[in-house]
Amino acid sequence: MSDQDDFVNPRRFPKNVEGPFYTTGCISKSDNGDPEWCGDCLWCGAPEAEAPTLLAPLDDSNLDTYFVRQPESSEEVDQAINAMKVCCVDALRYGGRDKKIISKLDNDPAWCDYVMTEKGSLVRTLDDEGHLTKYAFEKANEYHRNLTLKFAMGHPDGPDSERSSNS
Ligand code: SF4
Repeated sequence: MSDQDDFVNPRRFPKNVEGPFYTTGCISKSDNGDPEWCGDCLWCGAPEAEAPTLLAPLDDSNLDTYFVRQPESSEEVDQAINAMKVCCVDALRYGGRDKKIISKLDNDPAWCDYVMTEKGSLVRTLDDEGHLTKYAFEKANEYHRNLTLKFAMGHPDGPDSERSSNS
């Protein structure tokens, strides 16, 4: 087992093949009341167009965006990164610790489960429930990214929290 396996985002969509690149989802209730996974990114095909051999093809039997294969070359890593960057809800993520890949992803907590500090060490961006950590939330603030990132919503340090509005 590699050190990339020590954290698994609880929001990782279960259809993803094992490995650092993955998509997110959430559990909702099906028509019969049973819990059911729903992917956060589905249908439009933009990520699949960027990484057609890494993501599951969309057709009548599959509307979910998820990785069926992990990148094996630098070209494929770039394809995965491009797919991540076209997703409008940041539902494709990198859970690995390769600093070159994290740099290509702008060291951004919206895409990376680990980011680099100024001293170059890696810190986790998500807590055990899949919300941004306080450090990662502040880093996202620095980047002037949309602070309604889904991972921030409901987080104690997020924009909709009492703590945030009272401080
Ligand atoms: S890229 Fe955006 S619009 Fe397209 S399927 Fe994913 S979330 Fe939906």
